[in-house]
Amino acid sequence: MRRTDLAGTRFGRLTGLWPAGRYRREIVWACQCDCGRVRAVLRNNLRTGNTKSCGCLNRDQATQAATQRFRKHGHSYRDRKPTPEYKSWQSAKERCFLKTHPKYCNWGGRGITMCDRWKDSFEAFLADMGRRPMGTSLDRFPNNDGNYEPGNCRWATPKEQASNKRQHGKRSDLLAMTSLSLRSSRATSPWLDSIVGMEEV
Ligand SMILES: [Zn+2]
Repeated sequence: MRRTDLAGTRFGRLTGLWPAGRYRREIVWACQCDCGRVRAVLRNNLRTGNTKSCGCLNRDQATQAATQRFRKHGHSYRDRKPTPEYKSWQSAKERCFLKTHPKYCNWGGRGITMCDRWKDSFEAFLADMGRRPMGTSLDRFPNNDGNYEPGNCRWATPKEQASNKRQHGKRSDLLAMTSLSLRSSRATSPWLDSIVGMEEV
């Protein structure tokens, strides 16, 4: 066995430099890690693949795993409770697609939908919308008759939402009146609700 047999050889992130002595009868090699550190590593651990870095690989993987866990759960659930963003996303989705939702008629039932990107991925929704500021809810803006999609949604305060609905109110009023005359005029009419009521969060 040549003493230089590992020099220049790569083991994961490590590259053998020179034999650096022995540790409990085992040969130790000085290795350069990709991260810049030089470490003494048991030759045997290099050859078997037990050691692939100065320790930075494990650290990176742990960080990555933690990041993934956070991405997966941290943004949708915190302390086992859905986050505000997740609640908004979920209930908007339900209003559009869940036919048994009590207010489906105001959203999905009148053709309002959620784009596929958001429908299929809370992460995509979160990436586009960002965190929900306190006291706001998901508002379709500028087009109150438009869909839940990037470019037509914002986090808005009740005041902002009300003025948004007033701006579009004329058209909705007409629709509502037509609808009311065609349908029953009960106070809980979905059309009336869509003008006066706020979207739930
Ligand atoms: Zn390293």
